[in-house]
Amino acid sequence: MPRSPFPSVDETLRTAAAQRAVARHGRSATLAAVRAALAAMRARVDEATPDRKALAEAAGRAALEALARDEVLGLRPVFNLTGTALHTNLGRAVLPEAAVAAAVAVMRGPAALEFDLGTGGRGERDDAVRGLVRELTGAEDCCLVNNAAAAVFLMLNTLGAGREAVVSRGELIEIGGAFRMPDIMARAGVVLREVGTTNRTHARDYEAAIGPQTALLMKVHTSNYLIQGFTAEVPAAEVARIGRARGLPVLDDLGSGTLVDLSAYGLRRERTVRDALGDGADLVAFSGDKLLGGPQAGFIVGRADLVRACAANPIKRAMRLDKIRLAALEATLKLYRDPDRLAETLPTLRLLTRPAAELRALAGRLLPALAAWLGAGWRVTVADCASQIGSGALPLESIPSAGLALAPGDGSGRAPEALLAALRALPVPVIGRIERGAVLLDLRCLEDEGGFLAQISGIG
Ligand SMILES: *Cc1c(COP(=O)(O)O)cnc(C)c1O
Repeated sequence: MPRSPFPSVDETLRTAAAQRAVARHGRSATLAAVRAALAAMRARVDEATPDRKALAEAAGRAALEALARDEVLGLRPVFNLTGTALHTNLGRAVLPEAAVAAAVAVMRGPAALEFDLGTGGRGERDDAVRGLVRELTGAEDCCLVNNAAAAVFLMLNTLGAGREAVVSRGELIEIGGAFRMPDIMARAGVVLREVGTTNRTHARDYEAAIGPQTALLMKVHTSNYLIQGFTAEVPAAEVARIGRARGLPVLDDLGSGTLVDLSAYGLRRERTVRDALGDGADLVAFSGDKLLGGPQAGFIVGRADLVRACAANPIKRAMRLDKIRLAALEATLKLYRDPDRLAETLPTLRLLTRPAAELRALAGRLLPALAAWLGAGWRVTVADCASQIGSGALPLESIPSAGLALAPGDGSGRAPEALLAALRALPVPVIGRIERGAVLLDLRCLEDEGGFLAQISGIG
């Protein structure tokens, strides 16, 4: 029988490339990669190819390359040059250094997560931040879960299962990632009782809808749209007054939920958690990784008896925070005790308050390297632009910013879409956007100037 032109697995494993693969990735991963490379080769190479040794070497190299490709993280760090500071698809808030350090410390070893160091008995998971949250929001108590969507679900299920929740038609939000209020209500076992119309809802609409089946009233922050024109909305304080008069709890889904008056930092004021509680809401839900600037988390804050009821719901167990995020959250909240330095210590606020002039200067420093990397065919200019907060905070608000516009040179035939893709293919992908026919890199969120330059120069 004629000898097969294809090398065996053993022959391939003996090649230099395969040996390097074994040293780097281990024997069993290399064996699987070699088998795959040989199978691909049999499908591709025709029988007449004579050189078994060359084929073995090629298969060994293919296996090594495949293993190296697999090494690249699935969850890749990127440069967010989209101009949206809290970009949900890019992981929202960048964590403060203090939060990173706190998270790392509890990752490396045990922590008193549900352990009372005073008594030596069992403690409660959320105790680590309870005092801080009370202090920073004025709430009687708090309960922490996976994210604000979970917080809304838990509040509704705890207080409204089997009964009705009254919500204005103008507030039946859908936000990214399939969070739709009617669906959340249905899954929480609550019957949605819509009141008013899309553009106008009055106090009498809430009052008329209240009956023996009513469990609660709910206000929802319209995070990603604005109803304009002939409109009427019942303010949260008025909804709270109606709820109190009828003995019904009032929930406020605040969404982003900031803890500080943003106007003190030169941004537009956004309703704070304290404001929502002050307006009379019994429970307020908000996110940890939007304007608050911490890890992904959901807060339920407000009346102690209602918060306790949420915490006692068995579903809370399926939504609770782990020690890593609790540690990061506690460290983030502690920064709020020193509001004078918050614009330095909290990256979200630091990025949102960077002046456009500083970003213009940064753009000027990066321009030569970027122009060199792109070569002829592209025109690179410093450009004024507008950033957004993102994640449903002040959706119509834009912040003056600056960056670099990369425009195709006249007649170069270059497409901005192709450049956007090339930027995404860099080792640390650069995510920009297209505006007026050019790739725009908004520099508001670029703090690692050196890392960005090194990557561009290394490739150029
Ligand atoms: C963002 C948002 C949520 C969901 O928050 P997550 O933390 O992403 O779960 C819920 N309600 C409103 C009004 C929001 O803006």
